[in-house]
Amino acid sequence: MYWEKDVETIDRKNLEKLQLKKLKNTLNKAVNSYYYGKAFKEKGINANSVKSLKDIQKIPFTTKDDLREHWPYGFVAVSKDDLVRMHSSSGTTGRATVVFHTTNDITVWTNLLARCMYMAGMRKSDVFQNMMTYGLFTGGLGFHYGAEKIGALVIPAGSGNSKRQIQLMMDFATTVIHVIPSYALHLSTVFTELKLDPRKDTKVRIAFVGAEPHTEKMRRKIEAIYGYQAFNSYGLSEMNGPGVAFECPYQQGMHIWEDSFLVEIIDPKTLQPVADGEEGELVMTTLQREGMPILRYRTKDLTRIIPEPCSCGRTHRRIERIKGRTDDMLIIKGVNIFPMQIEKRLMEIPGVGTNFLIVLEREEFNDSLTVKVEVGKEFFSGELKQLEMLRKKISEELKSEILITPKIDLVEPDSIPKGEGKAVRVIDNRRD
Ligand code: AMP
Ligand code: ZN
Repeated sequence: MYWEKDVETIDRKNLEKLQLKKLKNTLNKAVNSYYYGKAFKEKGINANSVKSLKDIQKIPFTTKDDLREHWPYGFVAVSKDDLVRMHSSSGTTGRATVVFHTTNDITVWTNLLARCMYMAGMRKSDVFQNMMTYGLFTGGLGFHYGAEKIGALVIPAGSGNSKRQIQLMMDFATTVIHVIPSYALHLSTVFTELKLDPRKDTKVRIAFVGAEPHTEKMRRKIEAIYGYQAFNSYGLSEMNGPGVAFECPYQQGMHIWEDSFLVEIIDPKTLQPVADGEEGELVMTTLQREGMPILRYRTKDLTRIIPEPCSCGRTHRRIERIKGRTDDMLIIKGVNIFPMQIEKRLMEIPGVGTNFLIVLEREEFNDSLTVKVEVGKEFFSGELKQLEMLRKKISEELKSEILITPKIDLVEPDSIPKGEGKAVRVIDNRRD
């Protein structure tokens, strides 16, 4: 039932002792990076400043912008020779945040994923089909190595190509899959198209679903369509990727591995810790990473700690399903997109006006992104061909920026309503 019983069921007192030791260790490592070396010096802090876990509050927060500004190596705390792998956050082709790992970091991460998958019930005898993108995104290789560590047979299917996914599932009797929730729903329509019933025609019994927000209702819908159990998987590239928090068989919140991450929940306005069990922004500190330790990282994800113990016996606390974000990052088909990226690209295209609107819809289980763009009046009085060419140009430009193909709706100047205050750039109509 447990991958590592001693660690997973360690009593809180010993867990906190372990955390403090690891935190000091992490601070001693972090100081070797350009960024923290400078920050510690400025603030006059070092590993000895931390006498208890509460003293973490003496350390400044780290944000995505800090990571971007010190791109690419400003956070690396070891010699570059000791780095063996790089990953980055999904989305953006520009300056994505990058994270570097040593051999030991990969070993630790792999073990965390094995722990997660084992907890949900995956075993050596399983056939695991990983339907996530392999590459810079962490969901491919991260899960891949974790599953191999358990000893399952891994099918590195990668993302997309739905008919082949279904063929692989049937040919090799896949029992466990890893999939983004919106894709699981889309795939179900392909099953229907092929006149197949995933409940009868496949052997899948477990799915790991994550990398994007989804509701409990959506999870239950996926489970009902496929007849398998779907476990919520949470992670972010800055904290390795998947393997940060994962559901146990009780499916009531995700255990966050506190031997690897120090967890805080803060009020995003005051930046002060909230009371136990209250909702706020998740802040995390790596406790095991050596290549690139990150301290008090503001994830911008909203959740709360579930303070009650879990019936599975694990002592690592649970977080609730992610409620939303404190910034304007959108996640579409598992890809992170900031409205600013769209704005920046649009404004570089001649003929484009100043106003635009992003509309998100969910049609027949498929997420779509439409960008309404105001363009010069002349495009509407001239030849239709010109308007069509502009639409194509905008579509191509945006695709190369955000990696997914948006629908482009060109409209006349002043046709997108302007509010009094901050411009509304996004309308999210996605519902379950
Ligand atoms: P990335 O660094 O590209 O892996 O993106 C990480 C972000 O994806 C997180 O900060 C969350 O906003 C989102 N995310 C990942 N897993 C989940 C999940 N299970 N539920 C909701 N959001 C998630
Ligand atoms: Zn549990």
